[in-house]
Amino acid sequence: MTTPETSFPATPEFYFADAGGPMFYFLDDRLDASPAIGGPPTPEPPVVTTTGDRALDVASVRSDFPILGERVNGRPLIWFDNAATTQKPRAVIDRISSFYEHENSNIHRAAHELAARATDAYEDARETTRRFLNAPRVEDIVFVRGTTEAINLVAQSWGRKHLGEGDEIVITHLEHHANIVPWQQISRQTGAVLKVAPVDDRGNLLLDELERLVGPRTKLVAATQVSNALGTVTDAKRIVEIGHRHGARVLIDGAQSIPHMPIDVVDLGADFFVFSGHKIVGPTGIGVLYGAQDALADTPPWQGGGNMIADVTLERALYQDPPNKFEAGTGNIADAVGLGTALRYVADLGIERIAAYEHHLLDYATPRLSAIPGVRIIGTADEKASVLSFVLDGHEPLEVGKALNAEGIAVRAGHHCAQPILRRMGVEQTVRPSFAFYNTTDEIDVFLDVVDRLARGGVGG
Ligand code: PMP
Repeated sequence: MTTPETSFPATPEFYFADAGGPMFYFLDDRLDASPAIGGPPTPEPPVVTTTGDRALDVASVRSDFPILGERVNGRPLIWFDNAATTQKPRAVIDRISSFYEHENSNIHRAAHELAARATDAYEDARETTRRFLNAPRVEDIVFVRGTTEAINLVAQSWGRKHLGEGDEIVITHLEHHANIVPWQQISRQTGAVLKVAPVDDRGNLLLDELERLVGPRTKLVAATQVSNALGTVTDAKRIVEIGHRHGARVLIDGAQSIPHMPIDVVDLGADFFVFSGHKIVGPTGIGVLYGAQDALADTPPWQGGGNMIADVTLERALYQDPPNKFEAGTGNIADAVGLGTALRYVADLGIERIAAYEHHLLDYATPRLSAIPGVRIIGTADEKASVLSFVLDGHEPLEVGKALNAEGIAVRAGHHCAQPILRRMGVEQTVRPSFAFYNTTDEIDVFLDVVDRLARGGVGG
């Protein structure tokens, strides 16, 4: 494998978010979000949202991710399982250990010094998240375990209050199980009806069909912004407009869009926007439910317990306002803090620049992969994020995954928790490489070579 540096200047124009600007291969004004070693952490600087015209320095970015130096089966690790989870930069790893070394406490500010530090760090992460999403108020940001928990919260809490017999929920055929099963469950519990907007044979969401499904009984539209199985990017803003025109609330699943495109929840207009930290170089076990002020106000608490109450007698409990109302019990404090650092890291690199670079990787890989005899790409929508699902004639996806693993390449092989859309595309499983901003075209070449040899009978069984 050649080094990342040698691949970088090949097609430099692709690395720009803003076309036409001069090209620089450095990021020397990147903010260092990691705290000083050996002392209390310094306050983190504000999130940077402007990216200017600097290029993405992939070699430098790669050196931020310790795990990319790992060897697997004697080969350098190639991490192409980014849609499942992303790797973590040193800044995030250090921030979490620094939290446990210098700040660890439960978050009850007034109790003592460490409680104040932990509370500040946790609330600072909430503010960072607010700014990353351009949410109007810090109270709109609820920390949860991840996308799955956020959707279940909305389904069980908002849904139980607002859904009744014959009311309708509209989802799309593209959804991850996390945005299907909670709606099936609440539909059974309330008598609501679940409707599904179709896709075409290439995996494009049919918005006109979606609009036809939304009507006076529709209480909620829940749709993904990027499909994890096919990579399809949906027009989430139009989905929100359609839902709102009919008086429905709209939830957008941002699990796959959050690391690949700028998100502005005000511009998007969604009532709920949800994502998981681990998909955007943050820790597992922490995620976000953004809710518009009136939507959260209209949502009862989900779980009861400590932290979420204003006053409790043995007869009744008075709840706090959002976000505390939805954060019962001791939350995942350290990982919330780590998520804040992850979002700063991504913002410093520039999400537009990341999107442009990942697009370049997709554009590089797609024609080369489809040129391999027996390869069929599953999901060829007009707009795609860097997910490249495929099947190979005569080889089970798992077998392809094992052959790639033998060469140090990690991909997902299976149904990707999105069985309905794979079945719609005529398959049960696919092989799914998915690229992040720390991947390179050289890594893609190594991957293509293994698939090509397998297709020609030269690798494995
Ligand atoms: N929705 C989509 C589109 C996803 O890709 C995923 C994760 N694969 C989820 C929801 C669920 O996320 P989590 O497992 O982090 O809760």
